[in-house]
Amino acid sequence: ACFSLGVMVTMNQRLEADTLLLVADEFGYKIEFSDADLEESAIEEDTDTEEDLLPRAPIVTVMGHVDHGKTSLLDYIRKTNVIAGESGGITQHIGAYNVQLENGQRITFLDTPGHEAFTAMRARGAQITDIAIIVIAADDDVMPQTKEAISHAQAAGVPMIIALNKVDKPNANPDNVRQQLSSMNVLVEEWGGNVQSQEVSAKFGNNMDALLDKVLLQAEMLELKANPNKNAQGVVIEASLDKGRGYISTILVQSGTLKVGDYVLAGKNHGKVKAMLDERGKPLESAGPSIPVTILGLDGAPTAGDKFRVFEDEREAKSIATKREQLQREQSIRTKKHLTLDELGRRI
Ligand code: GDP
Ligand code: MG
Repeated sequence: ACFSLGVMVTMNQRLEADTLLLVADEFGYKIEFSDADLEESAIEEDTDTEEDLLPRAPIVTVMGHVDHGKTSLLDYIRKTNVIAGESGGITQHIGAYNVQLENGQRITFLDTPGHEAFTAMRARGAQITDIAIIVIAADDDVMPQTKEAISHAQAAGVPMIIALNKVDKPNANPDNVRQQLSSMNVLVEEWGGNVQSQEVSAKFGNNMDALLDKVLLQAEMLELKANPNKNAQGVVIEASLDKGRGYISTILVQSGTLKVGDYVLAGKNHGKVKAMLDERGKPLESAGPSIPVTILGLDGAPTAGDKFRVFEDEREAKSIATKREQLQREQSIRTKKHLTLDELGRRI
């Protein structure tokens, strides 16, 4: 039947859903896909009611042109706004961290290169950012990467806050930047528009509190909520193999609460959460919505942007992981169809 439809396949090759429908039709059958056949099987249906939803911290990405001060800004926030009573900042690099401000409110920052967070993750269907801080050096122009960052945020429907950075510099000219922004239809509040902006010096920390206040203000308007009282689900931020500890994955809980001992499926990897650490390496027992944590215990390194979910049934998680791995293997074989003759020779 496949051949008659012009589909050249072998006995043990997996068919695309569309092809399956055609082939079944040839025999007078209609196909119903069961949930387990679909990738989406790993995403739990959202059945939260209004009462289940509680406020959660905003998740913020910092984007902008190279050398305009993204790293300085994130570093300043990381080093100064650390949880009250604990000494020292966060020293090691980590893809995401949560800070508590003096007023007790929390903000989660994604410290992945902004473009990755927006393109790679969005391409994989993971929209995780609530607010984008666009850093623009006030002693420079609105550069190509700045424009790109702005259009990424606009395309994703993520509100922006413009940080006009390096205002400590004698040649800083924030009005020049505001002017250039207005000519691309990004009108900041001071100029009568609706895009929040704040002059800052990431290097010296000037007005950083005011910037964070604006983040919180924006967050309030978004009314960000999630249900903490269910099994956790969220997104993988980064993962790697650590010499001493095995596979470690930094993940962001989007809803529910993740606990030590939970059985997790993340992309095509799975495993029991053996330990959970915050951005300072401090062990945690649980992590609720908007909280990033590093987990130990997965059987491999999932890909940034992979969704994760807790399973009650370990076997179910394993079987989906296996299925995904199989699908990926088959896909990679299929995409290798255009091998050179030389490579083909070696394979045969
Ligand atoms: P990134 O490429 O966007 O991450 O930019 P960096 O944070 O690495 O900053 C690039 C350079 O600008 C570094 O030499 C920083 O010290 C400097 N810089 C960043 N922010 C400020 C600022 O507010 N004032 C001044 N004077 N220099 C800054
Ligand atoms: Mg940088």
